[in-house]
Order: sequence, then C-alpha cells, then structure tokens
Amino acid sequence: MRVLVVGGGAAGIMAAWRAACGGHQTTLLEANGRLGVKLRISGGGKCNITHGGPVKAVLAAFSKDQARFLRPSMHRFTNLEVVELLRREGVETYERDNGRVFPLDRPGSAAQVVAAFESILGRSGVEVRCGVRVAGLEGAAPRLHAVLLEGAERRPADHIILATGGASYPETGTRGEVLGWLKALGLPVKPWFPALAPIPLNTARPDWEGLAFRAGWLRLAVGPTGRRLAEFQGDLVFTKVGISGPAALELSGPVEAARRSGAAFLSYAFDPRPAETLEGVLVEAQGAKPHLAARTWLGTWLPERICGPTLASAGIAEDQRLKDLTKIARRSLAASVTAFPLGAPRPVSLERGEVAGGGLALGAVDAHTLRVKGWENLSVCGELLDIDGPVGGYNLQAAFSTGFGAGESV
Ligand SMILES: Cc1cc2nc3c(=O)[nH]c(=O)nc-3n(C[C@H](O)[C@H](O)[C@H](O)COP(=O)(O)OP(=O)(O)OC[C@H]3O[C@@H](n4cnc5c(N)ncnc54)[C@H](O)[C@@H]3O)c2cc1C
Repeated sequence: MRVLVVGGGAAGIMAAWRAACGGHQTTLLEANGRLGVKLRISGGGKCNITHGGPVKAVLAAFSKDQARFLRPSMHRFTNLEVVELLRREGVETYERDNGRVFPLDRPGSAAQVVAAFESILGRSGVEVRCGVRVAGLEGAAPRLHAVLLEGAERRPADHIILATGGASYPETGTRGEVLGWLKALGLPVKPWFPALAPIPLNTARPDWEGLAFRAGWLRLAVGPTGRRLAEFQGDLVFTKVGISGPAALELSGPVEAARRSGAAFLSYAFDPRPAETLEGVLVEAQGAKPHLAARTWLGTWLPERICGPTLASAGIAEDQRLKDLTKIARRSLAASVTAFPLGAPRPVSLERGEVAGGGLALGAVDAHTLRVKGWENLSVCGELLDIDGPVGGYNLQAAFSTGFGAGESV
C-alpha cells in the first residue's frame, strides 16, 4: 500500500517508521528543510523526550478525556520503549528527580535524538521528502485520494496519515492550517487555543526581568479579592512584558479562558496559608523578635530584591522594627506573602505556547487505531489531535505513542 505521512515531527516520524515496518511503501513529507525542527528546540535544546514512571502516572498528567483517549496508544508504545529505542541507537538518557527524561547532557543532544530517528527511518526504507509543503487534501468521505503539494504537484496515496502538529511556533513549520481542512471535510474540530505560553501582564515590570518567584503558588481569580479559578505550584520568572516559567506556562490556558470571559487576576502565594494565619505568625514574631526589621521578616518569603519596593508600596519604612508595625501594616505585609498581586493578564499568544490546545476532536478518532471514524484511509496523530499535556515530556510522549499507533494500524 502507498502510505503518505504528512509532517516530519515526533508523531510523523514514528508513524512513517511503523508503516514502513509493516511492509508499506511509505513517504514522509515535511515542509521544513529537515526533520524534527520542534524536537531540536524542545526542552531548551536538551529535549525532554518523555516522562519516567508507570504509564498510568504519565496518563494522569492529562485531562480525563485526553487520558482515556491516549491509554491504548501509550500502552502500545510506552515511555520505556521510547527510551529503549533511543538507547539501541546510541542515545543514552537519564531521568531527573522530577521524572523528566533527557538525553545525556552533551552539546547538541536534541539533534542526536533526531539523528537517531533519521537512521531508523533510513533503515526501514521510508522515503523522506523535506522542503515539501502540503497545500490541500483531495477526496471526500469515506476516502481521500491524494495530497496536493505547493506548486500544484499531486501525490496519490492509498492511506494518508496527518501529523502536522499544532499552531504554535509557526516559524517551526506548524501553522495550524490542516485543522481548517479537516473542518472542511466535515470533521469536528476545536479551534486552536494557547497553552504552555508565557503570560503578558497589564502592569509589566521590565526592571524585574529575570527575577524568579520560587516554590509558591500562582493563583488565578476573578478579581483581586474574587473567587479562585485555578492555581499551580511552581516557579515563575519575570520577563520584559509579564511572566514565564513553569507556573505561568501551566496556568496560561485557564488564564486566557478567564481573560476572554472578562475576569482574570493573578497573584502569587509565597505561603499557602490564609492571610489571617500569616498575620498571626507576624504577631507572634513581634513578641518573639520585636527588634527584627520588617524587611528581614519579609525576606523569609519574598526575593530580597523586591522587599524594599513592597515595603514602600505599603508605606512601611525599610528599617521599621516589627514591634512598631500597626495592624494595617501587618495586614498589608501578610497579604504580600499570601497573595502578592501580579494583576490582570493581557492576551496570551498562541504562537509562543509550547503546545497549542484544540485540534481534531478526540471523539472523531478511534483511540486504538488513530483512524478517523467514517473514513477508510485517513489517520491523525500527534498535536493535531485535541491533546495538550503539561510541561515534563508528556507532549512528546503523546506524539510518539499516537504516531506509533497510527503507523501500525495502516
Ligand atoms: C519551544 C518548545 C519546547 C518544547 N519542549 C518540549 C519538551 O521538552 N518536551 C515535550 O514533551 N514537549 C515539548 N514541546 C512540545 C512538543 O515539541 C510538541 O508537542 C511535539 O513536537 C508535537 O509533535 P508533532 O509531531 O505532533 O508535531 P511537530 O513536532 O510540531 O511536527 C509537525 C511537523 O509537521 C510539519 N507540517 C505542518 N504543516 C505541514 C504541511 N502543510 N505540509 C508539510 N509539513 C507540515 C511541520 O513543519 C512540523 O515539522 C515543546 C514545544 C516547543 C514549541
């Protein structure tokens, strides 16, 4: 059978490999001049290839619906099998304390991962065509007949696997247009949505660029004192225009949803206890260490660099002793620790997300075969599906597993 795989990222590489191993005459079409461009930049160039631990735990990182859909694929081609595949190709990996799996720290380690995959593709007989952008699909339910390439070339096929990824980082080749083609074929799609992206703020603090808030909780609420909508424990880092870092990336999807519905306010809790409890802690400190400077007390939680400005905005002198703090000053200090205000977000960019939310609705796809329901010869895998996991190697694993399943099920 002539199989065409569109998209040479993590999912498409796996799909093409497995289809070729199944004895099919397989061609992999990639718009970029080389394969795996997103793989090469992932994990800051170190490529957080997957996540360690049992498959059940990897699945638990996804939303319920996504986990249910991914279960058959992830058991068919597990995180351990990804690691083992790379090891056989000479790429050793290691697992960090937080479960994230990387190739051994060597210069160009992400490029070594792609080179390993290229050599697997070569041995299995896949024809790889890079620098070829697919511009459309030809056919109607229940069969596709061909893909149309930019420049009017037509490539007929017996089976087509779409692995064109999401819509973020368009400069890496993922422009998201294929989702529109699937919609035009009558399939249910969820519009692209930013996820794992930095969050720009209304009140940016460019002078704080590079400053980190560590080990606390980034919280999203409907307003400064309103109902809490979501929270994520982790570090954040200030950028010129807002915040980035694990906590900001993880919360970016809910933040954008709340912003679009008109009510989103962000704060950071250096301590998860209620403000009243912290006020009590401060009262105790006033008794135990009356001569301690308020700045020193605050520095137990806040980064040193912002203690001064925080005290100033609360109208408290830097050298003020704990014993001289008024009730209002105590309340204000406690609030800085339990709900440091970051303010309202500006629109979160789809383009800067590590993944894009949205994609082909999972209900349209058979979770065991990755074949699109109601179609005889169309499969979809990877980020083009409505799948978006957290930071930690989960998204690449989802792409590897669904790509593997799509290729095996041709
Ligand atoms: C900066 C960054 C860092 C990341 N770090 C990590 C990480 O460390 N760990 C992790 O798990 N995930 C990470 N991710 C997410 C992860 O890279 C993706 O979820 C994953 O690559 C998706 O794989 P995919 O094969 O579905 O799509 P992609 O890898 O995006 O591949 C899709 C390919 O299809 C091609 N294509 C698109 N349209 C066409 C067309 N019309 N014709 C021909 N070709 C086309 C594109 O050029 C692209 O090469 C990161 C993402 C980014 C942007």
